[in-house]
Amino acid sequence: SLDQKKSDYELMLQTARYFGHQLKHHKNSKQVIEYIKGRGLSGQTVQKYLIGYAPSEWDGLCALFARNPAQKQQLVDLKLATKKESGGSFDFFRDRLMFPIKDKRGRVVAFGGRIIPNDENEKNNGPKYLNSPETRVFHKGFELYGLYEAKQAHKKLEQILIVEGYMDVVALSEQGIEYAVASLGTATTAEHMHTLFRTTERVICCYDGDRAGRDAAWRALENALPYLADGKELKFAFLPDGEDPDTLVQKEGRDDFETRLKQSHDFSKVLFEKLAIECDLTSDAGKSKILSLALPLIDTVKSDFYQENLLEQLARLIGRTKEQLSQKLNTPRQQKS
Ligand code: ATP
Ligand code: MN
Ligand code: MN
Ligand code: MN
Repeated sequence: SLDQKKSDYELMLQTARYFGHQLKHHKNSKQVIEYIKGRGLSGQTVQKYLIGYAPSEWDGLCALFARNPAQKQQLVDLKLATKKESGGSFDFFRDRLMFPIKDKRGRVVAFGGRIIPNDENEKNNGPKYLNSPETRVFHKGFELYGLYEAKQAHKKLEQILIVEGYMDVVALSEQGIEYAVASLGTATTAEHMHTLFRTTERVICCYDGDRAGRDAAWRALENALPYLADGKELKFAFLPDGEDPDTLVQKEGRDDFETRLKQSHDFSKVLFEKLAIECDLTSDAGKSKILSLALPLIDTVKSDFYQENLLEQLARLIGRTKEQLSQKLNTPRQQKS
């Protein structure tokens, strides 16, 4: 119900504030703040993103609401606490650096928690990042970390940079690049792309300089094509091996990083370069293969202009005409509304 949701958002916000309070006052505070400083973040950025600390105790948050059974149940529903067989419950996030995830209206809907490296955690060896599971207020594939802050920072968002991680978003903001968002550990979904292209004209994908990052770029491209309307732009910035936006912007600063973004590749170049690696275009078999791989993708492109453009490039690669290929689309041009 509406009342339920309102109360859920309130509890999520209270929790974010509690983590913020713990960052300043918990006995581990000094060590956690050292870690934050070591990652190059200022107090201002910590405040802007409401970054906090989930205490190491099993019942930090749970103890805070111990007197109210309804709220204790709500903590469990919102996956901030886990129920024990014996009936009690314990905190879901413990001893982690906490990133509240806000929806586009600024309501806290989930958290991401990063392990803080210390002797204890080395032994326990939990996952580096722990994210809120889906709840009645959190639908993973839809939210983008940092989108609310990016919208707040710009009257009109001319471009949005999409990166992999929380740390990338906050490090970029620290250096003055306030238009980055992160998909939440998942790949960039079709819903993410839909949201992004409703919000801005140019989307630049900038994933980590590793295998996983390059795979993520390809999936993002596939997911973006149906939302690539006329007048929209999709670009890709590939980072040197081993770098991510966080490490790179700290090394080279805002101006050099933004120069990289200006030099980012157009999506069609990325598309055909990747397909050309998989197909030997000197042979008929390779030409027919690239046709079978590219046509279904081109079919999904929303913009007439971009679709024609891609067909033209494909035709040139295999020595055919655009008209010959256009007949092979499932939705021939003239039938499209
Ligand atoms: P850091 O710089 O703090 O190591 P990162 O963002 O560079 O963080 P990556 O390993 O590049 O970390 O992962 C990118 C993103 O993927 C993270 O921000 C997080 O959202 C998600 N992620 C990484 N590891 C995990 C994990 N073990 N479980 C769930 N999500 C994860
Ligand atoms: Mn990575
Ligand atoms: Mn990374
Ligand atoms: Mn990183």
